[in-house]
Amino acid sequence: MTITDVAAAQHENVYRVEDQASGLVGFIAIHSTALGPAAGGLRMKPYASEADALTDALRLSEGMTYKNAAAGLPLGGGKAVIIGDPATQKTPDLLRAFGRAVEACNGRYWTAEDMGMTPADMGVLAEETRFVAGLADGAFASGDPSPITARGIFNAIRRVAVHQFGSANLSGRRVAVQGLGHVGWNLCHRLKAAGAELIVTDIDADRVEKARDALGATAVGLNEIYAVPADIFAPCAIGGILNGETIPQLTVKAIAGGANNQLATAQDAELLHARGILYAPDYVANGGGIINVATEILQIETAEDWVSEHLSALDNTMERILRAAKEADVSPALVAEDVVLQTIKRHAA
Ligand code: NAD
Repeated sequence: MTITDVAAAQHENVYRVEDQASGLVGFIAIHSTALGPAAGGLRMKPYASEADALTDALRLSEGMTYKNAAAGLPLGGGKAVIIGDPATQKTPDLLRAFGRAVEACNGRYWTAEDMGMTPADMGVLAEETRFVAGLADGAFASGDPSPITARGIFNAIRRVAVHQFGSANLSGRRVAVQGLGHVGWNLCHRLKAAGAELIVTDIDADRVEKARDALGATAVGLNEIYAVPADIFAPCAIGGILNGETIPQLTVKAIAGGANNQLATAQDAELLHARGILYAPDYVANGGGIINVATEILQIETAEDWVSEHLSALDNTMERILRAAKEADVSPALVAEDVVLQTIKRHAA
């Protein structure tokens, strides 16, 4: 296995990892360790090129710096990617080789599950490295983070509701949910229990059917979710869905959801602001997941209480961001970035 340094101006370290025997080619990107060891998941995808994989690792690791700082965690930002199809090219040898690369970072980078990975895969990595979270079992195993992620998003939805409708009460509020996977499904249950009316879409027809039957949700087509009359939009599927094409269609007054990188470009936050749509920055709204993972990395004995305390602090951070954005008449995305950079600066001082 060979690990080579890759020059990247905005990152502390970027490593290209190759193991010819297992066919492993990937990158570990450590964006910042200013707040603590860099933490962020491992993604396996059939990237079209090494350049694409590197770009993804650089972008995602920077995003983790922001997410971890916003969540008040003593963790920096990192991310790793492996090039390949997880369905056909993921072998124990390849995972073990990657595990050795993580171990070689000597604790500056902690990995965990992301797209294309399972808790069982994390178990294989753990044969080679101590610096892996998201294990299925063990003393501090944190399990599926999505219920905690959904709890955080639900809090964010209540916050935007206060700002836009004058009350956190969601009874009768129409919430459009895009994506009924781990996060979206949990969120829908919470929203339903709070009396919200659900409008849902998913590429998986079975999930939509289930939401209709079990939660009384109204189903709409994949592209109809943007223009559907609703109060709040909760994107819980894929990134880049807030863009020049979708934003003009939106009828909602607020957006708060779980998907990563919801804005296609930074400019799209301005478009939302100009339309009077309050956007809860995604990496703040969905920080519950990494809070849950952090209990494993930081080996927290009283995980349940610790998670609740951190979710509550995250909720306060969201409120601070929304209020400051309103006072300055700017997008919450701008304020969130400032809050995060100030946090990092304070720690670096
Ligand atoms: P998931 O794979 O379980 O669910 C995603 C769902 O979205 C699936 O049901 C899928 O069919 C659906 N989907 C995909 N493309 C779609 C489209 N174009 N339109 C409508 N539906 C579509 O993933 P998840 O764990 O629920 O995560 C959802 C999002 O939240 C992702 O962006 C993820 O990165 C982010 N996120 C998840 C967590 C977590 O704890 N799982 C934490 C933070 C952020």
